[in-house]
Amino acid sequence: MSRTSSSELNPPRQRRAELARNLAEVRGRIDAACAMAGRAPGDVTLIAITKTWPASDVMLLSQLGLADFGENRDAEAAPKAAACAGLPVTWHFVGQLQTNKTPSVARYASVVHSVDRVRLVRALGAAARAAGRELTCLVQVSLDGDPARGGVPVTGVPEVAEAVAAEPGLLLGGVMAMAPLGVQPAAAFAPLRACSAAVRSVRAGAAIVSAGMSGDLEPAIAAGATHVRVGTALLGGRKPPVR
Ligand SMILES: *Cc1c(COP(=O)(O)O)cnc(C)c1O
Repeated sequence: MSRTSSSELNPPRQRRAELARNLAEVRGRIDAACAMAGRAPGDVTLIAITKTWPASDVMLLSQLGLADFGENRDAEAAPKAAACAGLPVTWHFVGQLQTNKTPSVARYASVVHSVDRVRLVRALGAAARAAGRELTCLVQVSLDGDPARGGVPVTGVPEVAEAVAAEPGLLLGGVMAMAPLGVQPAAAFAPLRACSAAVRSVRAGAAIVSAGMSGDLEPAIAAGATHVRVGTALLGGRKPPVR
């Protein structure tokens, strides 16, 4: 069964108003979470996760003042980034990444959030050098040790961080995590501070903590997130994957 996305059904003006409303609501949630945590709202960068949504939505959100966009599949991200060339946007790659996709990802992404193994570090380094670009890499931590959604267990963080720091073409930027399913987010995010400290002991400036999505950005900000990755709350519900 296929469904037409609302961006195709609605005139752009209506979609623009919808995105503006959602953006104001998400920014309000971020500001409130920062206030609760005693942090300045400017501490937290909002990344719009635009998977399944068209390049026209990236353009509208860019016009509304957003600069950071993320995708989780190269096959979708590469053409979307190409369609948005010329917009003042930074692309973040947030999904599980196969080494054979690194040459493509290195051409458009500035930040890769999902770096979880040394072999991937080597491939990203080679791809960055070939593309003549520097890639900021975040070490993805698996907070429950279950590798199903990617990530290195907490104990493996220093090894991956050191590999990134030693790899020409890559800049160690920090850590990334997703809350494990079925665990209370506040408790799930607690180990992030120690993981961030471990990465900062490899490179002091590697202070990015990428955590928090539509459903759990408040506990993530309370746990020290500097970057939240928000899809549904900004763009709307995604269609189920086509099989
Ligand atoms: C899809 C996705 C998000 C955004 O999720 P929402 O719940 O739609 O906000 C964040 N991070 C990653 C890695 C994702 O794949």
